[in-house]
Amino acid sequence: GAAASSSSSQPVRVVVRLRPFLPSETGSAAAPCVSLIGGHPGSEVTVHLKEQRTSRSECYKLDAFFGHDDRVRDIFDKEVSAIIPGVFEGVNATVFACGATGSGKTYTMQGTEDLPGIIPLAVSTVLKLGTGMLCSVEISYYEVYMGRCYDLLEPKDKEIMALDDRDGNLQLKGLAWVPVRSMEDFQEAYSKGEERRNVAHTGLNDVSNRSHAVLSIRVNNDGVTGKLNLIDLAGNEDKTRICNERIGSSLFALSNVISALKNNEQWIPYRDSKLTRILQDSLGGNSRAVVIACLNRIEYHESLYTVRLAGRSGRM
Ligand code: ADP
Ligand code: MG
Repeated sequence: GAAASSSSSQPVRVVVRLRPFLPSETGSAAAPCVSLIGGHPGSEVTVHLKEQRTSRSECYKLDAFFGHDDRVRDIFDKEVSAIIPGVFEGVNATVFACGATGSGKTYTMQGTEDLPGIIPLAVSTVLKLGTGMLCSVEISYYEVYMGRCYDLLEPKDKEIMALDDRDGNLQLKGLAWVPVRSMEDFQEAYSKGEERRNVAHTGLNDVSNRSHAVLSIRVNNDGVTGKLNLIDLAGNEDKTRICNERIGSSLFALSNVISALKNNEQWIPYRDSKLTRILQDSLGGNSRAVVIACLNRIEYHESLYTVRLAGRSGRM
């Protein structure tokens, strides 16, 4: 349809995801700070952020909007499913969820038991598409924390080393790639990874909100290799920026790369962070990317920071 063709013709799409109020937020004194102008699902939208107290406001133009009536499956169908066939032809792709802690990143990427997120939907679509083809599907799952990379599927005691290969791309040396032939295979590997992620962080002051989690699907199709990275980024709340420069700067580096790609700039600053270096072969060039900016609608500063990170190029 029209949405599928628009999403497949743009190298980087930045979309907004506005989650519903949670039970704990209803009756909150804070008035919503986010409003949208235009915004038929799937078409370009102007996000209008207004601080109620000061009446300060800013507008950003993003590529599409998904509201509380939209399910994760709608985001998947309109923005992600169209990039999957390309992976079988060696076109890499990356889907990011960014936003403050509590904005719905994990809900969107991982989903719940009843409502699968982008990750399980993508894996099942890849498996379906690969049926009957001469191809293999593998996954890796790792975490980038404080500029270091840790395997979640077959963790070694040491961090995964990132080394340049001959083409100047970063290779993650020793990272485990686990073959996946069915959703059961996937669920088994993924839930073990999730468990490790949680165990590793117990008592460590909210590390999972301060690390980037990367689930990578690698398809080898008759000698052609393609990769789809699905990333639950660290929370980008203001306080993170202050407490932890490292996360702030890796998100800032990512946002610089995305905005350079959106603006068709010649020079793309991949080298400014570990995350962007790791993703260099899956961002830009002929790769595809979708950034899902997750917003709660109450926190003006957090929402503003998210939209800025995701869509600086769309500032009006
Ligand atoms: P994050 O990963 O960004 O910190 P979560 O995905 O954990 O945020 O979401 C925070 C809370 O909001 C969770 O309780 C989650 O179930 C809920 N939530 C997020 N998005 C939605 C949504 N679209 N619909 C209903 N509940 C949601
Ligand atoms: Mg989360």
